[in-house]
Amino acid sequence: MSLLIIGTVAFDAIETPFGKTDKIVGGSATYVGYSAAKLGVNPKLVAVVGDDFPTETINDLKNAGFDLEGLQVKKEEKTFFWSGKYHNDMNSRDTLITELNVLESFNPVIPDSYQDCTYLMLGNLAPALQTQVINSLKNRPKLIAMDTMDFWMDIAMDDLKEAISKVDVLTINDEEARQLSGEYSLLTAAEKIQSMGPRYLIIKKGEHGALLFHGKEMFYAPALPLAFVKDPTGAGDTFAGGFMGYLASTDDVSFENMKRAVVYGSALASFTVEEFGTDNIKAVTQKDLEARMDAFKALMSFKH
Ligand code: AMP
Repeated sequence: MSLLIIGTVAFDAIETPFGKTDKIVGGSATYVGYSAAKLGVNPKLVAVVGDDFPTETINDLKNAGFDLEGLQVKKEEKTFFWSGKYHNDMNSRDTLITELNVLESFNPVIPDSYQDCTYLMLGNLAPALQTQVINSLKNRPKLIAMDTMDFWMDIAMDDLKEAISKVDVLTINDEEARQLSGEYSLLTAAEKIQSMGPRYLIIKKGEHGALLFHGKEMFYAPALPLAFVKDPTGAGDTFAGGFMGYLASTDDVSFENMKRAVVYGSALASFTVEEFGTDNIKAVTQKDLEARMDAFKALMSFKH
């Protein structure tokens, strides 16, 4: 089944307790797409970059199986730039710089060849644009998932609530769930957020895993304990790409299958955090992924 992804394709500059990078390629849609491609889908990308974006990376995206008909390259404009610094626990970070650049005037145009997509992943982006994308699809996809972050809660809460009201699945982290709902308990927060629209909610808890909520049903997947975590940037997007990639490739949106999708998302995210940037997720083989899935199975099963 086809998966349409919208989000940022960006330059990132990252500082963690384990190192620091100059501008490297990142962006929500980049991580989502690389991750989904590992599950056999060819992500249809809608995004914008400036003409400072490397042709080499555009070729990498093509080689990974991305459909780039919806990628706009703006002449004499600069690519979106984000810079962040992680705290010592690596579960929280401060945004140092957000330069919207090309995003300021981004008009996400959906090519005709994308119109029949069955799964839609709205990666982290201005919520008004996320809504615009939903509204510009002629047929509603079978499942719409959306990611967001505190940045948009701070500056565009009304737009964000409108976008949230239109999606099936929302993925956010624990602090964002608290900010969005005004509730400390994640259980109460989940109930409140589901009443805003999404039938499914995924709360990501960094190195403590992820929770999936649907009405009274709940599922928890831990994160795989890893010897080396260098840079958590993109973990949430990689998770979302794995989650939606698995659902699109199996074309099964039952709660049982969503549980497996959560574990695939977590397994793929475990590769992203081991290195800076997209290099690790790009290099994952089927064998690597299945080995991590086995590790999750061993970690999560017990007799009672
Ligand atoms: P994650 O670590 O999964 O939350 O995603 C990090 C990615 O999100 C980075 O590669 C950034 O380029 C991108 N990003 C950071 N801030 C924003 C923003 N305000 N809107 C969209 N994407 C962003």
